[in-house]
Amino acid sequence: MSKVIAIANQKGGVGKTTTTVNLGVGLANEGKKVLLIDCDAQGSLTESLGFQNPDEMEITLSTLMGKAMNEEPIKSDEGILHHDEGVDLVPANIELSGMETALVTVMNRERALKNYIDQVKNNYDYVLIDCTPSLGMLTINSLAAADEVIIPVQAHYLPAKGLEQLLTTVGKVKRQINPKLTIGGILLTMVDKRTNYAKDISRIIRMSYSKNLTIYKTEIPHSIKAAETSAVGKSIFAYDKNGKAAEAYKDLTKEVLDNGKQRKKHRSEIIR
Ligand code: ATP
Ligand code: MG
Repeated sequence: MSKVIAIANQKGGVGKTTTTVNLGVGLANEGKKVLLIDCDAQGSLTESLGFQNPDEMEITLSTLMGKAMNEEPIKSDEGILHHDEGVDLVPANIELSGMETALVTVMNRERALKNYIDQVKNNYDYVLIDCTPSLGMLTINSLAAADEVIIPVQAHYLPAKGLEQLLTTVGKVKRQINPKLTIGGILLTMVDKRTNYAKDISRIIRMSYSKNLTIYKTEIPHSIKAAETSAVGKSIFAYDKNGKAAEAYKDLTKEVLDNGKQRKKHRSEIIR
C-alpha cells in the first residue's frame, strides 16, 4: 500500500522543498520506492534535484494533470525523471501557474491531482507532494490527494494565525473531500539551537499545539549545508552525510516510518 504525503504550509520559505527532497531520499535510503511531485510553479523541487531550466521541459505536472482531467491515457512512467539518489520526480514549471485558473472551470476540480496520482502510486511506497506556498486550488488538490500532511514551521517566528488558517483548510478538505486525510505532524525547521529565542519558540509551539497535534520530536537545525544542497542538486545525505542536518533528516525519516506503523493507535486530532 502506498502512502501519499503532502508537505504543506502557505507561508513561503519554511523548508517545504528542502524537507521533500531530504525526507524523500531518506525514505529511499531505507529501501522504499519514492515518487516526489513538484506542485509549485516555481519548480524549486525540480531545480533542487539538479534538473536545470524546468521551464524548458516538455512534460511536467501540468501536462499530466491536464491529461488526467481530459481522461487521456497516461503511461505509468510518462514524464517521470529519475534522480541518482534513488527517487523519482514529476517536475513542474511555470505552466503550473495556469492550472490554478484552469481548474476553476473543470469537473471534479479538487481531484485533478488525485486522479493523476491514483494512476501511478501503486508503483511506489511513498509519494511526497511539495506544495506551493498558498492555500489555492493546487494546495487543495494536494490535500485532496494525500493520506497525510506534514507541516514544516520555521522556528524563527510564531506561526499563530497562518497555522490556524492551514489547519482550518485541512479540516475542510477532510470533511468535504478526503475523509482519510490526517495530520502527520508539525515539523520545526531551521532551528538555531544556539539561541534562547529559537528554544523559546520551539517550547511555545510544543506547549500550544502538542495536546491536539503531533509535533515531530525531530527538529531540523538551521544549517548552511542544508541551504547549499539545492544549488548542487543533491540531498543532504549526499552533500554532507555526517552533518547535523543529515542526522536530523534521518531521524525524521524514522519518525515518519514509525508513525505510519503506530497511526492506528494514535489519539484523535483536532480538526476545525
Ligand atoms: P517556498 O514557500 O518558496 O516554496 P519552501 O517552504 O519550500 O519555500 P525551502 O525552499 O525548502 O522552503 O527553504 C527556504 C530557504 O531556506 C531556501 O533557501 C533553503 O535553502 C533554506 N533552508 C532550508 N532548510 C534550511 C535549514 N535547515 N537551514 C538553513 N537554511 C535552510
Ligand atoms: Mg518550495
